[in-house]
Amino acid sequence: MSKTIYEDELECECGGTMKPRLFNVEGFAVRGWQCEKCSRIDYSDDMNLVLTVKKFKKDGASLKLRSVGDTIVVTIPKEIRDALELKAGEDVKMYPLSKKKIMVEIEK
Ligand SMILES: [Zn+2]
Repeated sequence: MSKTIYEDELECECGGTMKPRLFNVEGFAVRGWQCEKCSRIDYSDDMNLVLTVKKFKKDGASLKLRSVGDTIVVTIPKEIRDALELKAGEDVKMYPLSKKKIMVEIEK
């Protein structure tokens, strides 16, 4: 496997060494670095995905239902698809929770 920038050590503002680390941010694996000297943390771009999820979790995504034959299709916006790494053909399970709420669980 080739070495990625995420495995490189960085220099901290304090002069210490920032070592690559995998962080758990609200259940998401986020690559980043932590300074051995001052404990400062820098997150990689992985953090953008977490922020996308948080944004839609709070505000929701506004969509229009579309008809396909006898069924209704709910589209998943690109930002959410990318953040959750969803691919067409993957198995999901849908649970109607009430007359106004549906939950979709990704089965992976
Ligand atoms: Zn430092």
